[in-house]
Amino acid sequence: MNTQYRRKRRMGLFAGAIFVISITLLIALAAPRENSPAGNAPPSTENTGSLPPAQRLIVLDPGHGGHDPGCVYGGYFEKDLNLSLALKVRDALKEQGFLVLLTREDDSAVSPEDRAAIPQNAGADIFISIHHNSLEDDTVTEGIETWYNDGMNRLNASFAGYIQNEVSSATGGKNRKLKISDRLIVLQGASMPSCLLEAGFLSSDKERMLLVTGNYQDKLARGIADGIVRFFNEAV
Ligand SMILES: [Zn+2]
Repeated sequence: MNTQYRRKRRMGLFAGAIFVISITLLIALAAPRENSPAGNAPPSTENTGSLPPAQRLIVLDPGHGGHDPGCVYGGYFEKDLNLSLALKVRDALKEQGFLVLLTREDDSAVSPEDRAAIPQNAGADIFISIHHNSLEDDTVTEGIETWYNDGMNRLNASFAGYIQNEVSSATGGKNRKLKISDRLIVLQGASMPSCLLEAGFLSSDKERMLLVTGNYQDKLARGIADGIVRFFNEAV
C-alpha cells in the first residue's frame, strides 16, 4: 500500500468510528425516559416497575430561603439547615445514579406555589420537602415527623412511611410518626408521591446541638436517601 492509500484508509476507518459513535449517542439521547410525561401532564405512578436510578427524577425542596428564614433558634436559621441537608441528600442520591433537582440551590426565596409547580412541571417521580420543626416556649420536645397529604396520591402514606422509618433509624432520633394534612401548600399540587420531612426540633436545646453538626446531617441525609431507594425498590 502506498502512503496515500494508507492515509485514505485511516481516514475512512476514522470516519466510520465517528459515525458509529454518533449513532450510539443519538440512540442513547433518543431513548425515552419511562414515566416521563410529555409537557406538563401529571406523571404516572402506575406500573413503573423497577426502573434504573438514571430514569428516576427526584425533586428535593429545601424549605424557606431568602427573606424567609423559617424558625430561628440559637443563632441558627432553619432555611440554612434545610439547604445543607438537601444538598447532602442530593449528593447521596446522585452518587447512586438518580436524577435530582432542587427547588433552590442557594439562599433564594421561592413561593410555596412555585415549589409545588417545579416537581409537577419537571415530571418528577417523587417530591420531598425538607424542614426543621419548632415549638414556641418549649426547649424539650424533640424528634422526627413526616407529613403527607392523603388526598393527592395513593402512595403518599407509603412514601412518607419509608422516609419516617429510615430517617428515624439512621439517626436514632425520636420517631414522632406520620402526620396527615391537606393544608400544606407545597404538597397540594403534587400528583406524584410526596411528603414533607420535619428533621428535628430547632427549639430543642438538645436536638439543635445535633442538627447543626455535619455528622448528624450526614445521618439524616442517609436516612432520607435510604427511604427513597427502599420506596422505589419495594413500593412502586
Ligand atoms: Zn419550615
